[in-house]
Amino acid sequence: MDDAEEIARFHDRCSDLMRELLHGLAAAPDTARPFPEIEDAIGWPRRRIASVLGGVMHLRQIEFGGRRPYRFHDARVSSSGRWELWMDHDQAEAVRVAQAEGSAVATRSGGCLCGAVRYEVRGPLRDVLICHCRECRRWHGHVSASTAARRDDLVLVQAGGLRWIDSPAGDAGARRGFCGECGSSLFWDPPRRDTVSIAAGTLDDAAGLKVVGHWFVAHAGGYYQLPDDELPRHQHSAERDRG
Ligand SMILES: [Zn+2]
Ligand SMILES: [Zn+2]
Repeated sequence: MDDAEEIARFHDRCSDLMRELLHGLAAAPDTARPFPEIEDAIGWPRRRIASVLGGVMHLRQIEFGGRRPYRFHDARVSSSGRWELWMDHDQAEAVRVAQAEGSAVATRSGGCLCGAVRYEVRGPLRDVLICHCRECRRWHGHVSASTAARRDDLVLVQAGGLRWIDSPAGDAGARRGFCGECGSSLFWDPPRRDTVSIAAGTLDDAAGLKVVGHWFVAHAGGYYQLPDDELPRHQHSAERDRG
């Protein structure tokens, strides 16, 4: 599918899960990734992509002539040797437009306790990951609960109080953004990625987002139990656990 209107129609007609996958692909256009890597990025369990693609096949064939708003790399030609899935730039843009038009929460806002930092997110937000690493616990006072947005979608409306510090323990070279007036912890910004993590508690309205997994459980504090929520648990980050 190349026609933006057809992609928008597909976006409106498909299941919530398929829509979640479209948003996940649109967040990283022109990047072919194996299924597990995409599942990690969306916070999905393994093999959900295959099942969601299977579930949408009927709709594609009946209503869209078998066309799809994303592209495949066959395992034989992909660099990873596995099936890879991706959206080109125009497909991603069409999905992002459809998402913005289709949902009343396309623009979210948030800020610190005192109002000296205010931001808007003009695009999709990732679901929420709980991070148990030492650095997050020290900085947030307990585990972090973070959503994420594309860097271009995060707009600082009021940045008067915003201060940045280096994030010394992580391997992403990230910096952490906080309000110098009231001390609220807000952002985690790794320069080599195109997304910025945002403390979910700083959103004015986080309706529709949900917690989808635990990271760095190997570093969990000794003073609490991991919840019995059946969500995926990574010993470290999803990337490091795979490597
Ligand atoms: Zn503040
Ligand atoms: Zn952390």
